[in-house]
Amino acid sequence: MKFRNRYKFLGSHITLVREPDLFRISQEDEEKECLGAAENVHERIRLSVSYEGVRIGEFQETQIFIHEVLHHISQASGLELTESQVDTLARMLIYFVRENKIDLLDKSQE
Ligand SMILES: [Zn+2]
Repeated sequence: MKFRNRYKFLGSHITLVREPDLFRISQEDEEKECLGAAENVHERIRLSVSYEGVRIGEFQETQIFIHEVLHHISQASGLELTESQVDTLARMLIYFVRENKIDLLDKSQE
């Protein structure tokens, strides 16, 4: 998937920040290492390029990105999806797109 630096969503913008590798976030008084994070307050998505120095594959990278987008959708819609629900939906959506060879990219935007 080709990523953009910014995405429009419900009249505002979500900035995509690429991280070189695993990064740490604080969540509910707990530090954890992540490959992706949706920061609703900052209207951004953080997405790692590598995992412990190894480039993340396109499938996993796209899955993480969709996962973080679903967190934004969950927050904006008030669905309050759990981590497990977000993870399952992201994976199933990617499988659906992949099995049907759907090209989500709008080539006219490139
Ligand atoms: Zn998550």
